[in-house]
Amino acid sequence: MRTTHVWCSGNLYRLRVGAGAMKLVGDEMRGLGFAGRVVVVTDSNVAPLYLDAILASLNEAGFQPGQVVLEAGEEQKSLNSAGRMYDMLNEVGAERGTPVVALGGGVVGDLGGFVAATYFRGVPLIHVPTTLLAQVDSSIGGKVAVNHGKLKNNVGAFHQPMAILSDTGVLRTLPEREFRNGLAEVVKSAIIRDAQFFRFLEDNVARIMAREDSVMEDVVAATARIKAAVVQEDERDGGLRNILNFGHTVGHGVESASEFGLSHGESVAIGMLAACRIACDMGICEAETLERVEALLSRVGLPLCVPSGVNFDEVLEAMKRDKKVSRGKLRFVLPLHIGEVVIRNDVSDDLVTKAVRGCYSSA
Ligand code: ADP
Ligand code: ZN
Repeated sequence: MRTTHVWCSGNLYRLRVGAGAMKLVGDEMRGLGFAGRVVVVTDSNVAPLYLDAILASLNEAGFQPGQVVLEAGEEQKSLNSAGRMYDMLNEVGAERGTPVVALGGGVVGDLGGFVAATYFRGVPLIHVPTTLLAQVDSSIGGKVAVNHGKLKNNVGAFHQPMAILSDTGVLRTLPEREFRNGLAEVVKSAIIRDAQFFRFLEDNVARIMAREDSVMEDVVAATARIKAAVVQEDERDGGLRNILNFGHTVGHGVESASEFGLSHGESVAIGMLAACRIACDMGICEAETLERVEALLSRVGLPLCVPSGVNFDEVLEAMKRDKKVSRGKLRFVLPLHIGEVVIRNDVSDDLVTKAVRGCYSSA
């Protein structure tokens, strides 16, 4: 088990990573000074697997836990579900200090976090992320949101958790595609900040794909630390947080043009390669970097190119609609080498078009 501290937006909180971390929830919360009622929110896939363990830990520590089990799925990340949670909080007599425990993937974390941010203008939040993506990405940084209308994450807030318990043991039950989804953000973090971590990933692919506890502990802790550091530094150096968007400019384009047939991680993998190609074409990055990124993504089972059904013009259109456009120019995060990236908004339209075209055939 690893314990680190995350310093984010003026809050310091504990991050525990390792097999069995979720069973610490009761003790951890008592240590934070909580007592009495707690509300656990989870979804219909996670509840049968892990809700009992969480409730047992809370009961043992003397809490009276209530629960809300939502249907699994992104459609639940709505104001409607938030309303159901507010009802539940009213019913159990939640008070200003009643903590919400979000047990699940990004959907549960974002929705539970949104409810925690807004109920009584903010109640304490504890994250128990159960997907790799949630452990390395969405639980860190304090962004919480629901989707409204056709837009994603358009109604939200910043609300930092009091603690995060990332149990690497629960990754074993994740569907293969969900696991790979998280790996894309892991590889991304290494490329933007940590060459040594990238090497570690290259050296441990087999153990990672077997989801071995000890290696996943390293992977989750390292990636979470990178995200937290970038978010934290952004407070001083406005805009640094944007480096987390590496692979996301083209990534969001292909994700949206595929009508979400490609997962977020799959799209980001394709987008990272496009960014590497742009950087090579601009002469700021060596071909070897592109080759290493491509090799690692391929070894962890992420796609290197888009399926043929995804319309090329749609990808370009979706990229232009996206928020990473400043004064009509697309903003790209480009690698200089593994471990360092720069933000550029002067990439020519020709290079962008060429890079997107490059997403259609694996080199
Ligand atoms: P994310 O946004 O983090 O990818 P979601 O909340 O969309 O995650 O969850 C992805 C899917 O995986 C959902 O169907 C969810 O119910 C399911 N799930 C989450 N954690 C686990 C787990 N540890 N084992 C099995 N299924 C899980
Ligand atoms: Zn992402």
